[in-house]
Amino acid sequence: MRRFYKQIRFDINLKRFYVACAVCGERLYGKKLPLLCPSQTRIKELELGQGGWLEQQTYNHTKAVSVQYLSRFYDQCPHCGSWICDQCYSVVEEKGCFYCNKL
Ligand SMILES: [Zn+2]
Ligand SMILES: [Zn+2]
Repeated sequence: MRRFYKQIRFDINLKRFYVACAVCGERLYGKKLPLLCPSQTRIKELELGQGGWLEQQTYNHTKAVSVQYLSRFYDQCPHCGSWICDQCYSVVEEKGCFYCNKL
């Protein structure tokens, strides 16, 4: 499960965590982060674990819930751990994904 935390991204406009399949690029969105006005700078701080206490708690929690949710739908490249959608998984199992094998 820990490896799933790799490559989860944050869409600042939608205020949602998401992952993109490393083969077809299809995005899947997770939970919304309940911050009033997240700025690029604040998100950077939170990503580094340097946000204010309450914000950091909220961020960590939302991220954990999102990872749990997203991992029900997406799998991981067995070679490098990138997120892969179900449709692409059979290709990746054999050949690797865009990141580890540069498809
Ligand atoms: Zn895919
Ligand atoms: Zn890979």
